[in-house]
Amino acid sequence: MYRQDAARPDRICIVCYRTLGTGEQSCGTCGAPLVPLDTPEVVAELRKRAKAKKDQPARRRYAFVIGASLGGAAIGFAALLLIGVVSLDRPGHTFSAVGDFWPFWLMFVALVAVTTSLVKWLRLFRMPQGGDTLDPETASVPELLVWLGLRV
Ligand SMILES: [Zn+2]
Repeated sequence: MYRQDAARPDRICIVCYRTLGTGEQSCGTCGAPLVPLDTPEVVAELRKRAKAKKDQPARRRYAFVIGASLGGAAIGFAALLLIGVVSLDRPGHTFSAVGDFWPFWLMFVALVAVTTSLVKWLRLFRMPQGGDTLDPETASVPELLVWLGLRV
């Protein structure tokens, strides 16, 4: 009844984004009903998801650099307190976030520079192949599906 070349998928699961199919059916992975690929809502959903996937490496890189630098500076500052290079309870001392913590901020800024270079050097959090040229706003539906890792 169906010709082989007519089996081009026209529906997708927008719950798990793992299943493409033809005709009315449920997703084999999560059981949600597949929805038609040609409705504006579904295409908008695909674009949103494609954009999120494209932004992900940059977000992870940013979170890693900030997290590692804060952690490293906190450890470094604790070490300075421990060995007595820095003291927070001198007599007649007024607490100041800048004056008391300048070694922390100095280490933080230095660590941001170091981890940023390290991430570049080690090529961490890179964009998956094809991400540089893909524009989620203008890409065709098949291009979006390929980018999202669905077999078209
Ligand atoms: Zn599913």
